Amino acid sequence: MTTFFIQQFGCRATQADGAAIERQLLDRGCTTASEAALADILVLNTCTVTASADSQARDAIRKLHAANPAARFIVTGCYAQRAPEEIAALPGVSWVVGNSHKPQIPDLVDSFSSAATDESTTDFLPIAALRSHSAVPFRSFVGTQHAAPLLGNILTGNIFARTEFLTAPVLGGEGNHTRPTLKIQDGCDSRCSYCVIPFVRGKSRSLPPETVLQEIRSLSNSGFREIVLSGINLGTYGRDLSLRVEFESLLRRILGETSVERLRISSIEPLDVTQDLIDLFASTDLIAQHFHMPLQSASNRILAAMHRWYRAEHYARRVELIRERLPHAAIGADVITGFPGETEEDHATTINFIASLPFTYLHVFSFSKRPGTKAAALANEVPGHIIKRRARELRALAEKKAAAFRQSQIGRTLRVLTLRPDDAIESHSTPALSTNYLKVRLEESHSANLWFDVLISGESGTALVGEPVLSCSASLR
Ligand code: SF4
Repeated sequence: MTTFFIQQFGCRATQADGAAIERQLLDRGCTTASEAALADILVLNTCTVTASADSQARDAIRKLHAANPAARFIVTGCYAQRAPEEIAALPGVSWVVGNSHKPQIPDLVDSFSSAATDESTTDFLPIAALRSHSAVPFRSFVGTQHAAPLLGNILTGNIFARTEFLTAPVLGGEGNHTRPTLKIQDGCDSRCSYCVIPFVRGKSRSLPPETVLQEIRSLSNSGFREIVLSGINLGTYGRDLSLRVEFESLLRRILGETSVERLRISSIEPLDVTQDLIDLFASTDLIAQHFHMPLQSASNRILAAMHRWYRAEHYARRVELIRERLPHAAIGADVITGFPGETEEDHATTINFIASLPFTYLHVFSFSKRPGTKAAALANEVPGHIIKRRARELRALAEKKAAAFRQSQIGRTLRVLTLRPDDAIESHSTPALSTNYLKVRLEESHSANLWFDVLISGESGTALVGEPVLSCSASLR
């Protein structure tokens, strides 16, 4: 029986792809190996969102190959899609499979045992065909010993048009086996000038509503209480389907047609946060009061250069609308610092904007030049030491905002879901997550995956502490 080992990098979408590959391989009768050294097949699922993600992937390739030089080694994911030849040239890599061809990985694994990888197979084409940016062959072959075959690679045309949307819930991560993530949308039709994602994931594609409902029913029936919906650009969910579906209608169907106890939305673009969507969040306890809206910059000049389609004032209005209806909701943002041409004045504008709004947390990223994007060709690069200093200032502000939000919750009663303790310090207490995305620590030990209403009495580090005021409920329904 073929054994496999998957190592993952990257965002929730990439994790979901890894879970889908694992599900497919298990369905084909393969089994998981507990460590890389014991596997027949190694799969590395890569990210390419920054230069450091690329470097981590190359490092992982070296380590995995050293751990098991005899294994067949498939490298897939966003980096594989963006720079297949770079990866193919690394020692130990047997195959490079782009995101566009990920669903064919099980066929590839089957072919290993049936010896179908014979170089004479007619659908193997030389790498020169790939470099010409012509039609992308389903299978391509590099005829040298040190370079690996490539499967679906070049960033041209509509290579993803026939890519099957496979999904599987991601069960690991924080609070393992407590809050699975389900990817329901992939790809993006926008072209932010710094972003490589549309090139490596293609146009927006959605999982049909019936499949979403089926996956959620199955997770709920297995005992999962909070399900996180994720996507690359979640607000565009359903726009590609032949029977167009609005994201908000999908949420209403999930609430009405499944027994999900809490649904959380991973990230949504600011202009997709409409009054109707906010009203829906405010009308039910079954959707977590949590909005994560990428901001990137509050300088309108930089937003224009980034090809973002809103301006700071539009974003601020969304935050105000949320606060009017949901005074205690979590409001988080991604911010990029050091975009080419960003001046001290632009940076100050972003700092002042963030300081003036009720953000509850921030994810701060330093600009990273991604080959092939418009921003990579821009002059006026911001020197590294300035980017670092600006990132430090933004992170310090983020900490202040997060602390102020935590303090505003002291004395309130929050509904929390207990998580699995993830370190020794937590073994005598219980970590939990509130609807408004705050870490809460219960002083006694409780099982994971239980609901408690907790009176918040104070803080400990970056977590709130509190006492349950209501015994755990079996279900919120
Ligand atoms: S919306 Fe912009 S940043 Fe987000 S995935 Fe699409 S292109 Fe990238």
